[in-house]
Amino acid sequence: MRESVRILGVRVDALTYADLLERMAEFIAGGKPHQIATVNPEFVMEAQRNESFRAVLEQADLCIADGVGLLWAARRQGQRLPERVTGSDALPRIAERAAQTGWRLYLLGAGPGVAEQAGRILQARYPGVIISGAYAGSPADAEAAEIIARIRAARPDVLFVAYGAPQQDLWIAKHKATLGVPVMMGVGGAFDHLTGVRRRAPAWVQRLNLEWLFRLLTQPWRWRRQLALPRFVWAVWREQMTR
Ligand code: UDP
Repeated sequence: MRESVRILGVRVDALTYADLLERMAEFIAGGKPHQIATVNPEFVMEAQRNESFRAVLEQADLCIADGVGLLWAARRQGQRLPERVTGSDALPRIAERAAQTGWRLYLLGAGPGVAEQAGRILQARYPGVIISGAYAGSPADAEAAEIIARIRAARPDVLFVAYGAPQQDLWIAKHKATLGVPVMMGVGGAFDHLTGVRRRAPAWVQRLNLEWLFRLLTQPWRWRRQLALPRFVWAVWREQMTR
């Protein structure tokens, strides 16, 4: 695999969960810092107007397809993304692999105590997994030095950052050279989902491709952000029409 598709100018890599784990193993073996972004239609629309975010996605080592809208858009272009690969579902899979291989994980972000609780859940589910640290922190510049010091001292192989997009991805891009962690991945609400702080759409709703509707009903204050979805559909249609 080294294939990717472009959706409204944003690169999305054609990967399965198995491919993701394989690439992570390569990144960790190599040791240099790598950034992974979990791209969904909201990311793509944000990238249309936010140049620094667009640049961050462009230089990310992997952009995984976290959203069925991307699979739909790729299909319309006659291309294929093999499956939806979400941050929330990747997190436990990565922890499972980490328990087997000894990868050290660090959980950064979410509300007070949530990252710690997520770490305890992973340790209970995947005995032997090393949680090298868990800390809420904040994406504010004033806190960066302290957070970086904590992470460097913990020497993780994989750093999950749950500050929501685009802050988490901008934060990783800004600090990745100093952090020196082989894999850094923005995971949005993944700690909230794992701990049950926030309920994720049930599997059957996800299968019907209606996770966006579930989000709209359970977090109605996100409606403005979720306007990105119809705007995304419209932009993809329009791009095809004008080809
Ligand atoms: N968050 C945070 N600090 C901030 C802003 C957000 O820790 O300054 C956390 C928030 O608690 C939540 C996550 O970031 O756990 C954002 O989740 P969301 O589902 O909104 O992510 P997105 O949809 O943007 O990927």
